[in-house]
Amino acid sequence: MNEDEAFEYVKGTLRSERITPYHPYEIEVVRSIEKCINCGLCINHCPVVAAVGIDRFSGPRSIAVELSRSPPEYWSTADIVYLCTGCGTCREVCPKNVDIPEVVNLIRARIFKHRPDLVPKGFYVVQEPLTEYNLAFQPWEDKEEKSESRDMRLEKLGLPYVQDRVLDKAEILFYPGCQAEERAQEVREAAKVILDYFDVDYTLLDEMSCCGLPARLMGDDQTARSLADRLKKKVKKMGIKKVVTTCAGCTSNLSDLSYYFDWGVPTVHILEFLAEDIGLQRFGEDMANSSRLSPVHVTVHDPCHLIRHTSRQIMDYALEILREIPNVRVTESEAYDSCCGGGGLVSYHSRDVADAVVKENIEAIQKTGAERLVTPCPLCTAQIENNLFKSGSSVEVDDLTVFIAQRLPKKG
Ligand code: SF4
Ligand code: SF4
Repeated sequence: MNEDEAFEYVKGTLRSERITPYHPYEIEVVRSIEKCINCGLCINHCPVVAAVGIDRFSGPRSIAVELSRSPPEYWSTADIVYLCTGCGTCREVCPKNVDIPEVVNLIRARIFKHRPDLVPKGFYVVQEPLTEYNLAFQPWEDKEEKSESRDMRLEKLGLPYVQDRVLDKAEILFYPGCQAEERAQEVREAAKVILDYFDVDYTLLDEMSCCGLPARLMGDDQTARSLADRLKKKVKKMGIKKVVTTCAGCTSNLSDLSYYFDWGVPTVHILEFLAEDIGLQRFGEDMANSSRLSPVHVTVHDPCHLIRHTSRQIMDYALEILREIPNVRVTESEAYDSCCGGGGLVSYHSRDVADAVVKENIEAIQKTGAERLVTPCPLCTAQIENNLFKSGSSVEVDDLTVFIAQRLPKKG
């Protein structure tokens, strides 16, 4: 009996007790909980606790100390685990490296399995398109309308349309993610402009499918695994050596999948690709020749899925890239790396909590005096843009991939 078969056997024997044993890949997370020394440092840094108070969200320590240690009663914690945005701040400050965001995923998965009636109804808005179309959003019904919307956005942004490239074999896969595929189409198109400008030999998927992160956050591990397997098969068949994304969530999820499930194919955000594969020197030299450089004052938001789930190096690259673009002035916001509230699918069932979390960012952005906020994630872009708009602010928001593509010289 191999490890997976043994796990399935034990799972079967405990089904009637409504207990799911830990899968071998979850053991590391469970061991991290056991190291908690109950110090409470994490509570002081949790953005949800700061935004809505300890009475509404009891915080990371209670997840580590109380909730996670009573497997048969996971469902009694449903009101708490669904308010965590998965930002990873608690894990970053924890002296014992307790992996709270993964503990939350682990508990959500058990609630999904044994008490689906307690899963927030708002999550089914995501689950339906995932099951039916392998996408986290309802796809456009009318493809012509989708193209028209794309073209209107490109015209407004002054970006050219680059034809889609779909090859049988390629070294680089550009993976836009569901948000850029079906909603923020300008991000998908901007990445193509950048890749085309630097003559990168890349392909898109013949048919876009989700990386599985939303299913994982919902607790629907089976759908998450099946979406990941589907993608892995395609990546292997095409001989892909590297995946390039424009979404912070896809970057961290695909990197995790590669690590835990032996993909052997690294995933990098397009900022890393620009800095490491194209090179900052070449990027800077080309930018110096660009005539599309009206002065602009920006501030930057760091997505949690990049800095706390992948690597802070990526946002160091973002600043270096911005420094290479003439006429761009950057002012750091006091809350540059604070969670925007858009993660963990919290907004799908408790919009008030997600919007309370982003308030700190909104105030700090306005204090910088910048005219634009740039961030390399379409989900953070949407969350911050909506809330800046609601607050009556005149600060505009750009996805950083779009901001860069707009400033590249015209391809000669
Ligand atoms: S999870 Fe970490 S930071 Fe939080 S109480 Fe436990 S040891 Fe302290
Ligand atoms: S991951 Fe973020 S929101 Fe969740 S408990 Fe930790 S600090 Fe709070």
